[in-house]
Parts: sequence; structure tokens; C-alpha cells
Amino acid sequence: MARYTGPSCRICRRERMELYLKGDRCYTDKCGVKRRNYPPGQHGQGRAKISDYGLQLREKQKVRRMYGLMEKQFRGYFEQAERMRGVTGTNLLVLLERRLDNVAYRLGFANSRAQARQLVRHNHILVNGQKVDIPSYLVNPGDVIQVTEKSRNMAQIRDALEAAARRGCPAWLELDKDAARGRVNMLPTREDITLPIQEHLIVELYSK
Ligand code: ZN
Repeated sequence: MARYTGPSCRICRRERMELYLKGDRCYTDKCGVKRRNYPPGQHGQGRAKISDYGLQLREKQKVRRMYGLMEKQFRGYFEQAERMRGVTGTNLLVLLERRLDNVAYRLGFANSRAQARQLVRHNHILVNGQKVDIPSYLVNPGDVIQVTEKSRNMAQIRDALEAAARRGCPAWLELDKDAARGRVNMLPTREDITLPIQEHLIVELYSK
């Protein structure tokens, strides 16, 4: 699958908030949203009024970019969420959270989802003891996600685990930090997903 490879913190400026796409970068002055808190581009300081459609679009783009997905794939998750029982917006967020790259990030194996995606791609991650190199793999309750024995002591992964310990591990996951191994205890509920997301705007956008 394709992914966005442009400047990360340009997106922070577009969405007017730190998205931590490069992990700690957004804590520093390098993140453009601190110096230039207006959208990027020639017209960034132009018209400020935003339509309902604009609000819906920005919310969708923000969430899509948080999880590092392109439109087609993101839309696919929405359609899947619509077919599922329950609230479409919640279903969408739960599907996104279940992605293996996101889970590796949540467990603290990496400082960002982009970095986690690379760990998966480069065969550093096992699911139930099997190598899985597909970032979009959806985890299920009971799955054990771990860093391979060989990669467990990589400095990048140890540093990420230390940093993540300060962030805390979500309640639906369980982490053995020393072993770089986690378990999916249950699927996340809406309350477990503490990101500032108004998913109803995304549902409205796609339901037009
Ligand atoms: Zn940033």
C-alpha cells in the first residue's frame, strides 16, 4: 500500500494540532504548528471561514493521516464499519486501532505509527509466534504481539519502550516491557480511544 512520504509537520499545520507522526518531533520547536500556527501553502493566511463540508473534510483527513493511510484504504475501513453491527463511527475507530502497526505503536515498540509500520514491514514483529509483515493485519482478542528475539534489544525499540512507559499502555492491551511482548485482552471501546476525534463528522462526510 502507498503511504504519504512528505513533510510530517506540514500536516500538523494543516490540521492545526500536533499529530506526532514523527513521534517526539512534535514536542520540539521543529514542529511547524508552534512557529506558524496557520495552514501551509500560499493561501494559509487567507480566508478563515470554514464550511460544514470543510469541517467534515478536515476531521476525516486528520484521522486518516494520524493512522498513515491513503484515501482508498481509509474509505475501505469506513465501508467495512458501515456493514458491521453498532455505531459506524465507533466501528471505524476500532478497526483503525486494531491494525498491527497501530498496536505495535500502542504497545510502545515504536515512537510513531510510521516507525511501527516499518518494524512490521521489516519482519521484527511476531503475532502468536508467526512473522507477520502486513501493517494492516487486524489483531483479535487473545493475540500475542511481540518483537522477535533477535530485535528485542535494538536501541530504537528499547528507547521507544522507555518513552511509551511514560505515555502508558491502553487498558485493552497488556504489556510485558522487558520481554517486548504484548497481549490483546479485548477490543478497544470508544472510551479507550482518547484521541481528539469527532468521528460523526467523518460519517456525515461519507454519507452525503
Ligand atoms: Zn508536528
